[in-house]
Amino acid sequence: MKKISPETARDSIQFAMTLFCIWVGYRFYLFYQWMIGKSDLAVAKPGAVEGFLPISSLLSLKQLVTKGIFDEVHPAGLTIFIAVIVMSLIVRKGFCGYLCPVGFIHNLLNKIGRKLGKTVTIKGKVEFGMLIPKYIAMTFFVYTVFVKMGGREIDAFIHSPYNFTAEAKMMLFFTNMSQTAALIVAGLLILGIIIPYFWCRFLCPYGALLGIISKASPVAIKRDENSCINCGRCSKVCPGGIEVDIKQTINSAECVGCTQCIGTCPVDNCLTVTDRLSRIKLPWYVIAAGSIFILLIYYAAAKYTNHWDSPYPLEMLRNYYMQLG
Ligand code: SF4
Ligand code: SF4
Ligand code: SF4
Repeated sequence: MKKISPETARDSIQFAMTLFCIWVGYRFYLFYQWMIGKSDLAVAKPGAVEGFLPISSLLSLKQLVTKGIFDEVHPAGLTIFIAVIVMSLIVRKGFCGYLCPVGFIHNLLNKIGRKLGKTVTIKGKVEFGMLIPKYIAMTFFVYTVFVKMGGREIDAFIHSPYNFTAEAKMMLFFTNMSQTAALIVAGLLILGIIIPYFWCRFLCPYGALLGIISKASPVAIKRDENSCINCGRCSKVCPGGIEVDIKQTINSAECVGCTQCIGTCPVDNCLTVTDRLSRIKLPWYVIAAGSIFILLIYYAAAKYTNHWDSPYPLEMLRNYYMQLG
């Protein structure tokens, strides 16, 4: 029987997750239409839609850490956010490598760019300079929330009409996109064809945060210098632009744990996923399987303990939605 390659596994998981997110988006659209009285079809709000609100979840996390209060406005969002952080701590940036639909879009754009022979490799000082903005944005958000904002401000934001309607506003951004926004999105997509993983590598503050956290993960890709034939294939396929072929252990914040380097390496066991603490070699699929497992465990725990669905009355949410116009 033919073995599943890391590339096929990643493409399939990303595709399935993207389909799931489209379904979630569609269910939320139906929910919104019903709430504002444009449809008679009563649909429950899909909690997973709150996974697209990382900034709101960052504030909720501070509230949880400082006051021990679990957010009831977007509880599913906080659950997903914590799961993704735990994921990064244990199995690196598996969220970026396998679960985030934007990562899938960039995987597709990269494939298109390679087919067209239009990709540009960004390296050295230029790469360093281009990596800075996402870390500045990430530091700004973390500093603002964890240092500058006090408990009262956090509470006021969490219970503001703005936060209650955040996912609806995000949906309306895409369904009623302005010309300027459409041009920016189109520009980013074109850049994603030319510069592999442009948004993920150089602009996404969420990915930057997960990258920093993932440096504490015991799991990393290791290269066996003795068996390596220095073909450079691993570096060419790396979405993080990492020079895998000259490193011994890849513990970069840019590594998304996609294991594409392992899949393309012509030498058996030259590149492996390794537990850095025990030095035990793990199967290549441990990052993908671990990421999915952690997400499902958190989902099940939140559902079981009533930390997934918001207890706020729908009438209150309806009033806020009606004000969005
Ligand atoms: S870097 Fe950001 S957009 Fe890209 S896969 Fe990670 S979280 Fe998603
Ligand atoms: S080093 Fe390997 S696992 Fe990490 S991002 Fe690059 S190709 Fe993926
Ligand atoms: S693909 Fe494998 S053999 Fe080739 S440079 Fe990378 S680690 Fe070495």
